[in-house]
Amino acid sequence: MDRVTDTKTPSVEAVRAALSGVRDPEIHRPITDLGMVKDIQVHPDGGVSVGVYLTIAACPLRDRITQDVTTAVAAVPGVTSVRVDLDVMSDEQRAELRRSLRGDAAEPRIPFSEPGSLTRVYCVASGKGGVGKSSVTVNLAVAMAARGLSVGIVDADIYGHSVPRMLGTTDRPTRIEEKMIMPVQAAGVKVMSIGMFTPGNTPVVWRGPMLHRALQQFLAEVFWGDLDILLLDLPPGTGDVAISVAQMLPTAEILVVTTPQQAASEVAERAGAIALQTRQRLAGVIENMSWLELPDGTRMEVFGSGGGAAVAESLSRSLGAEVPLLGQIPLDPRLRESGDTGTPLVLTDPEAPAAAVLREIATRLSTRARGLAGRMLSVTPAGR
Ligand code: ADP
Repeated sequence: MDRVTDTKTPSVEAVRAALSGVRDPEIHRPITDLGMVKDIQVHPDGGVSVGVYLTIAACPLRDRITQDVTTAVAAVPGVTSVRVDLDVMSDEQRAELRRSLRGDAAEPRIPFSEPGSLTRVYCVASGKGGVGKSSVTVNLAVAMAARGLSVGIVDADIYGHSVPRMLGTTDRPTRIEEKMIMPVQAAGVKVMSIGMFTPGNTPVVWRGPMLHRALQQFLAEVFWGDLDILLLDLPPGTGDVAISVAQMLPTAEILVVTTPQQAASEVAERAGAIALQTRQRLAGVIENMSWLELPDGTRMEVFGSGGGAAVAESLSRSLGAEVPLLGQIPLDPRLRESGDTGTPLVLTDPEAPAAAVLREIATRLSTRARGLAGRMLSVTPAGR
């Protein structure tokens, strides 16, 4: 009897049920929920043809979708062959998709600033460039993703925008609809970078309003899905971006990266003190390039010592709330190399001392209790 059941021509329902297990690789929802299944035909010989709508014609993931659909349908008992025909959504279908993903709001809103958002947002700031802010951002993000969290990075460092390279990607985001952009995915992290919109290495003069608009777009028009953590790599200093971010993401917390050097820590302090004006919470200070471990085990303090602790103490005093020194990351040529080759150290060499500290900080930041403690409550007039 079983054999008779197995060789029976499969039903359209059984094929549809199998397709509900196929997720769009960018949107991460079942293709059956996204209006992507155009039709299903089951032939008497057990052959199945599935028509699939791609969101856009140049969908970079068309092979992956074809493969996933084929595998899922081939596993249905009685299916002898699978054919996948790709088509492209019409403008109306795309608009419908956007509505089903983000509701009917006329203007896209920033999901992370909505009341009830469960995403923790960290802005990684530094006083000056070259202290390792991007390296820290990338490794923290990848370490958090490796813990099973859904993590996004917004690379808003107009001067550096090195995040895509450090993650090993040259991909560009996919625009699905006028106000719907799919972020790039690399090393298990979703990422959008200012650098993805500048051709080659061309320097772009970003004026304040342009930057504000780009950030708004990154936060509101990009489909991030349900993120546990969003990290923003801010430009060094205390400029326009920090202010824009504070307006757009009032609940974001600030992480300050500094080196041990006195001069660096003074400017880092200023970057952190921005939180006083914006009434954001300071999650802590990370000291990078703390020492170089020599072959005999001694530590050479290349950039002096004490900068991280000094910044944490001084910020604690000015804010009247404890700002912890979250960790001290040693100098390690492997950290630089892994950045240059796009293979984050926390993945390639998780036991290296620098990687171990970064992983520890990632764990601490992803498991901290949320809440309003330590944050000044800001009351913003309605209509912002
Ligand atoms: P920022 O974002 O602050 O400008 P980067 O993360 O781009 O800084 O780091 C500047 C340079 O220093 C990069 O080449 C990076 O690989 C290197 N670097 C950062 N941290 C370390 C470290 N702990 N050990 C060795 N090299 C590091």
